[in-house]
Amino acid sequence: MPAALKIDLITLFPGMVSGFLAESMIGRGIERGILDIKVHNLRDWTNDKHHITDDRPFGGGAGMLLKPEPLFEAIEYLHTPECSVIFLTPDGEPLNRSFSRQLAAKKRHLILISGHYEGIDQRVRDNLVDYEVSIGDYVLTNGTLAAAVLIDSVCRHVPEVLGEEKSLTQDSFADNLLSFPQYTRPAEYRGMCVPEVLLSGHHEEIEQWRKERSLEKTRIRRPDLLNKKEPQS
Ligand code: SAM
Repeated sequence: MPAALKIDLITLFPGMVSGFLAESMIGRGIERGILDIKVHNLRDWTNDKHHITDDRPFGGGAGMLLKPEPLFEAIEYLHTPECSVIFLTPDGEPLNRSFSRQLAAKKRHLILISGHYEGIDQRVRDNLVDYEVSIGDYVLTNGTLAAAVLIDSVCRHVPEVLGEEKSLTQDSFADNLLSFPQYTRPAEYRGMCVPEVLLSGHHEEIEQWRKERSLEKTRIRRPDLLNKKEPQS
């Protein structure tokens, strides 16, 4: 049976994600054939003896830029009729739960491009990229870790990747709320007690308590979420 989601990551640093892809739920998803994730070295699509992937930007300025030819060739080689191409970049649209969920629900194949140096030639962005995504308002040295973040946030929405699917609905950002506080055994540790209501067995009261704590935390830390029109269920 084909994997539920196929992802091809193009990067200059495949080693940066090998551990990540072998571990935990993403690793198990790959092992069980639910996810098909391959990491490709951009240098494999160079034609010169030194495998050069970068050059100086026209117009001058600091740093180097990834050249268009290896990226065009890599993307054209990996392209399938159903694929979407995503470039990880700090000037892209901010990544959020809703976008990750949509990708998991609607896409069968993603090609992710990790930039390096000052980024990539604009012609790749203009002609081959469907989405430009940022993982936050800061700048990383290259896009490989950003791609890993996107892979993780999308794949946990692919059915059967998480052991406990219900946890998706309790996560922060579901219903535009932050998560409520959680406790496990022992009920008392070093004089610190778990709130009584959680030990009561009253499901409705527990739900109510959790909702109130979520609202309280969201109001303090992320009031912007409460004004969102679209619920991120
Ligand atoms: N000159 C670029 C700019 O100011 O927008 C930054 C280039 S950054 C040093 C090198 C590469 O790291 C980018 O092309 C991108 O692939 C990746 N990267 C850095 N920060 C990122 C972020 N916040 N989100 C996604 N990708 C990022």
